[in-house]
Amino acid sequence: MSKVNILLIEDNEADVHRLNELLNAAREGKYEITTTVTLKGGLAQLADNKFDVVITELNLPDADGINTITDIQEQDKSVPIVVLSVQDSEELALQVVQQGAQDYLVKGQGDGLLICRAIEYAIERKRNEQGLSYLANYDSLTGLANRLLFRERLDRALIRADRNKTLVALLVIDLDRFKNINDTLGHDAGDQLLIEVAGRLEQCTREGDTIARLGGDEFTIIMEDVKAFEDAVKIVDKVLNRMKNSFDLFSREIYVSPSVGISMYPLDDTDAGHLLKNADSAMYSAKESGRNCYRFYTADMNKKLLLNLNMEAKLRRAIDGHEFVLNYQPKFDINTQELLGAEALIRWHCPGDGVISPAVFIPLAEESGLIGVITDWVINEACRQNSAWQQAGYAPIRMAINISPRQFGQENIARRIFNQIICSDLAPKYVELEITEGALMDDVERSNEILRELKGRGIHISIDDFGTGYSSLSYLKKFHINTLKIDQSFVRDIMEDADDAAIVSAIIAMAKSLRLNVIAEGVETPEQLNYLAAKGCNEAQGYLLGKPVTAKEFTKIFDNNVVSPTIKLAHSA
Ligand code: C2E
Ligand code: CA
Ligand code: CA
Repeated sequence: MSKVNILLIEDNEADVHRLNELLNAAREGKYEITTTVTLKGGLAQLADNKFDVVITELNLPDADGINTITDIQEQDKSVPIVVLSVQDSEELALQVVQQGAQDYLVKGQGDGLLICRAIEYAIERKRNEQGLSYLANYDSLTGLANRLLFRERLDRALIRADRNKTLVALLVIDLDRFKNINDTLGHDAGDQLLIEVAGRLEQCTREGDTIARLGGDEFTIIMEDVKAFEDAVKIVDKVLNRMKNSFDLFSREIYVSPSVGISMYPLDDTDAGHLLKNADSAMYSAKESGRNCYRFYTADMNKKLLLNLNMEAKLRRAIDGHEFVLNYQPKFDINTQELLGAEALIRWHCPGDGVISPAVFIPLAEESGLIGVITDWVINEACRQNSAWQQAGYAPIRMAINISPRQFGQENIARRIFNQIICSDLAPKYVELEITEGALMDDVERSNEILRELKGRGIHISIDDFGTGYSSLSYLKKFHINTLKIDQSFVRDIMEDADDAAIVSAIIAMAKSLRLNVIAEGVETPEQLNYLAAKGCNEAQGYLLGKPVTAKEFTKIFDNNVVSPTIKLAHSA
């Protein structure tokens, strides 16, 4: 039986004696009672020792009636309080409990057992109250502060910053593609990930900073005592770095990247609510600019966000309104100079806004979930067109279709893609899928299963934007792929930047050793093409060889007798 430590604050000696006797008689040896005769003495005891319960008189020589309760709570807010009083007053009893005490006992009433029970209930009641207050203030999944406590802490942080003439940085952190993980691996895995992310965030912050989870996969950090933008940048860099390592979720290796938005008090706004909104806008802008990065809030962001919201509605209408068109860009074999294929690139003819670039609306379509419908349409249209060309008697070429990362993460993606192809009557061997390196690395095992299924059905697989991600040679060896597509950012500077030239040569050499095709995209000059040819790159695509054009214009490339004059030019140059 564990002892119950009672602090009795009572200046009347007779009452002290009586209570001791009653409790002892009821439960011998159960109670360890420490007595003080003044409130001051009681508070000193509370400062030094831990008590299970405080029993106190309200009329103490150095106390102020009901305020005694507040004084005790300020010293130890977790200790249950039972008030002992000579007054048998319902009204006072109610006041006492409203003030935060757990029970009210009238002297001379009740026997020992009754008092024992009152003490035990008081302890129990306090425990429940604290549990409730924990629930009200903390996120039960991660143990981080919840939205309520976050707001309270933010308000306090702003006041402190005013006083100390420092800044507060407010960070909003959103996990890219979290929904994917939830959808594909299940909620348990999603929950586990959130817990681990919370742990990593805690490792990045300093003492005194508040980390909160505002809901879903949205986290926030309140950084106090900030003197310059660089202080915030340091922490954000840490966050981005910590997240780079994979998460081990039910023995699957998962990579997540955070997008971080930052607003600064009092530079951006002086209102707590606006600060949060601003950090949120900055976070969206980070997502737009390619994820896994951070952005500080700037005033024109709100305008842009409004524009985007508008765009989502327009995007929905575009699907029904046949506002999408495909352009086709040719791909050539560098050695034989043959036309090998075309990449389908979507264009949106938006009434009132002209042609909108896919670089702008595809990320929006991904976020809003509309990407699925759009991709279905692209596959359908691209395959239909390719099939029509074959029926018109042109030499068969392969049609490349871009699969966005978000889309690749969806369940049943292989089946969904394949079904679209089947419906179009085009043989799968004339279809190529371009999937970015980043999308594949999100969940390596799963990716490879999907690739195997697709490749098994005869579909050609290319890794798009190759070189920008972080895939290792060991993964590449295992992946069921046909082609590496060197990102155009490397090709662009190949002639000026020795590093880029070295990267491109290395990718070509690596592709060769793995017996993979390699294509360079964004080839704009004959010099670039010659360099690539010299290094052994087998395919090329770019403005030099042909810009993306409509289906009708593309037939001219066929008519050109499948040899691009520009390639000849480049070779003879
Ligand atoms: P991407 O897959 O890397 O496509 C290549 C982009 O580079 C295209 O831009 C193309 O027009 C452009 N390009 C081609 N040759 C050159 C060149 O020599 N120089 C320069 N500077 N650029 C060149 P576009 O059509 O604006 O597409 C941008 C991105 O949008 C694509 O990048 C792709 O990620 C995405 N996208 C386009 N169409 C679709 C689609 O149907 N579905 C999905 N999911 N994404 C698409
Ligand atoms: Ca592409
Ligand atoms: Ca690309």
